Amino acid sequence: MKLLSNSKIKNSKVLMRVDFNVPIKNGNITDATRILNALPSIQYLLKNNNAIVLISHLGRPKRKSKKESLFIVYKYLVKLLEFPVFFSEQIIGDEVDKKKENLKLGEVLLIENIRFENKEKLENNNFEKNIFFAKQLANQMDFFVNEAFACSHRESSSMTLLPMLFSKKKLAGFLLEKEIKYLNKAKHNSLKPFTAIIGGSKISTKIKLIKKLLIICDNIILGGAMAHTFIVFLKGKVGSSLFEEDQLLEAANILKEAKKYNCKIHLPIDCVSTQKISNNQIIQFRKINKVPNNEMSVDIGPDSLNLFHKIIIESKTILWNGPMGIFELSAFSNGTRMIANSISKATELGSYSIIGGGDSIAAINSFNENFKFSYLSTGGGAMLEFFKKDNLPAISALAE
Ligand code: ADP
Ligand code: MG
Repeated sequence: MKLLSNSKIKNSKVLMRVDFNVPIKNGNITDATRILNALPSIQYLLKNNNAIVLISHLGRPKRKSKKESLFIVYKYLVKLLEFPVFFSEQIIGDEVDKKKENLKLGEVLLIENIRFENKEKLENNNFEKNIFFAKQLANQMDFFVNEAFACSHRESSSMTLLPMLFSKKKLAGFLLEKEIKYLNKAKHNSLKPFTAIIGGSKISTKIKLIKKLLIICDNIILGGAMAHTFIVFLKGKVGSSLFEEDQLLEAANILKEAKKYNCKIHLPIDCVSTQKISNNQIIQFRKINKVPNNEMSVDIGPDSLNLFHKIIIESKTILWNGPMGIFELSAFSNGTRMIANSISKATELGSYSIIGGGDSIAAINSFNENFKFSYLSTGGGAMLEFFKKDNLPAISALAE
C-alpha cells in the first residue's frame, strides 16, 4: 500500500475521502476531532502545492436534508485553514465539474454529503450505476487518498470503488496509516488478559462483532443499550429501555459461543433508571433486570462499575467502544466517565488501551479530564472489524 507520508505529490489534483461525520447539536459542531484528525494530510498536500477535493458523509440521510448538510463543516474549515476553501452543493455534474476545473493549486473544495446520492450505496444488480457515479467523482482528479479509517469497514462507491479507478495513484493518508499501525500493535502483540468493553446504541451492527471478539478476548464487558438485549434474553425486565427484539437469538448465540471459547461475558447488574430522557429527572438505581415498565435504563449503576473496575484494572490489553449510557446528558454520563477512569488507571499501571468510536471519543473529550490511554482511534465499528478481520474492504481496495 502506498503511503502519503512517503510520497512527493506536487502540482496535482487530489481526491480525498475523509470522515467528517461529526456530532452536531443546535447547529454547532460539538466535537471536531474527526476534522482535526484529517488536518495533517490536508495541510501537507496544500503546502506541497496541490489542490484537494474532499468527500465525506454526515449521518445516515435517506435523501437530501438541511440537517445533514456538510455546509456547517465547510464554514468550520474556512475558519480553520489558512488556504481558500470552497463548497459544492452538487455532488456530481456540470456545476461541480466546473468548480473542480477552476480549483487552483493550494485550494480546497468540499463536496456536499455523499450520502445524499443514493448511488453511494452499492447495489448488487446495479454495479454499472455505481461505477458511473464513482467515475464522475473521480473526474479531473490525479490521485486518490483514503483518510477515512472510520468507514473503511464499509463497502461503498466512494470507499471501495473509487480506489479501483486510480490504479497506482492511490494512497493511505497520515491518519489511516497511524490507525493501522497502532491497531496492528494491539492485534498482534496483545498481552493477556484481553478485555473488550462494548457499549453504545448500534446494537445489531456491534452484536455481530462481539461474536468474533470473544475468540480473542478473555473478558467482554457489555454496557449501554447493547446490554439490554442480553438482559431481555435472560428473562430480565428492562422496562422501556432501548433493546433489539430481533437480536435476542444473536445474544443467546454469543453467550453460548463465549463458553466454548472460554471468554467471560460480564453484564451490568444495576442501572440508572428514569422515566424521561432529560437532565432534571428523578433517577433511581435499580437492578438492571427489574426496571419497571414506565422507566428505562440510561446508564450503568455503581455496583456494575465496581465489578467492571476490578476486571479492567487486572487486564493487560483493553479495547473499548461505545458509551455506557446516554452520556450526552450529564445526569447519565457517570458510567462512561468512570469506565474511562478505570481504563486510564490500568494504562498508568502499564496496560495497553485502545479506545475508539465517534461517540466514545466525543464523550471522553467532554469530560475534560487528564485521562491516560495508549491510543484513541477514530473508528468505532471499523476498529472492532479490524480486530476480527485480516483487512477491511476499503483498505484492501487501496492496496490492490
Ligand atoms: P460509537 O460512536 O462510539 O461507536 P455508538 O454510536 O454505538 O458509539 O453509540 C453511542 C450512542 O449510544 C450515544 O448517543 C448514547 O446516547 C447511546 N446510548 C448509550 N447507552 C444507552 C442507553 N442505555 N439507552 C439509549 N441510548 C444509549
Ligand atoms: Mg456513534
